[in-house]
Amino acid sequence: MRERPLIDWLRRRIRLAANVHLGPGDDAAVLAAPAAGSRLVITTDVFLEGTHFAAATAPGPLGHKVMAASISDIAAMGCFPSASFVTLAINHSCGEAFVRELGEAIIATAEKYHAPLAGGDVASWPSPLAVSVTVTGETRGLEPVRRSGAQPGDKIFVTGLLGGSLLGRHLRAEPRLEEGVFLNRDVGVSAMIDISDGLSTDLGHLAEESGVGAVIRETAIPVSEDARKLEGQDGVPAVRHALDDGEDFELLFTVSPERAGRLKKSWKFDLAVTEIGEGGGSEVLLERADGARQRVEPGGYEHKWGE
Ligand SMILES: [Mg+2]
Repeated sequence: MRERPLIDWLRRRIRLAANVHLGPGDDAAVLAAPAAGSRLVITTDVFLEGTHFAAATAPGPLGHKVMAASISDIAAMGCFPSASFVTLAINHSCGEAFVRELGEAIIATAEKYHAPLAGGDVASWPSPLAVSVTVTGETRGLEPVRRSGAQPGDKIFVTGLLGGSLLGRHLRAEPRLEEGVFLNRDVGVSAMIDISDGLSTDLGHLAEESGVGAVIRETAIPVSEDARKLEGQDGVPAVRHALDDGEDFELLFTVSPERAGRLKKSWKFDLAVTEIGEGGGSEVLLERADGARQRVEPGGYEHKWGE
């Protein structure tokens, strides 16, 4: 694979957004600064073949996934995406058709979710495919929602249905951008995170950052049809899949009891929003149907050094 023709193709293919004053092709990109009162939000993620995605993943779904997963982090801040930068380290033996299809999907998903590609790099090397994605966003007068704002007594909610994303949903993930901004601006949620590693792990992150425990009710967790299908295949309870599978890219958030009422009345999206528990205590607990409580161990996917 030769890099130059590919970069030329990418340059021709990219439509520059109004906020991108200088796109790919020069030594650096030039972007409009956020308007007064707005601040810059930046998130970066790396996706490694064999660790974050299987070698057999088709380029189209893969390109969509890396962008959707990265833009989901801007949604989780309750902010607006503005541009993206993608670097590809491609194995020497990888065909040009694969890379073009990957590039097409990256560009299309970036445009779809208002984070048009503004730059990046492409290089080939002897190792498996690695993709680095940076997404910029703007606060536009809003305060970004952090993981650390949950208070004892806050209600815990989650969007969508959880579990079993491995059956294919993880490759079709949709960042919850409109919902994230709505929760930030119109509801005033206290803490938020997107579910990438799994409800059990990401709730742990939120609780730890906030310095407060939580109790979630097993019977309240919105379990996806895919999670039930997986239970039929592997015998692991569907609710366990909903807790641990990850890559749902749904929003997990906390909100004061008063605002929770406002949220339920004003929720205007087709997507489900479900109250699953509340903040309090010092541990993260799961309440079973019979009332028994057990610690929620982070069972989600976490990448450990050396694995
Ligand atoms: Mg995240």
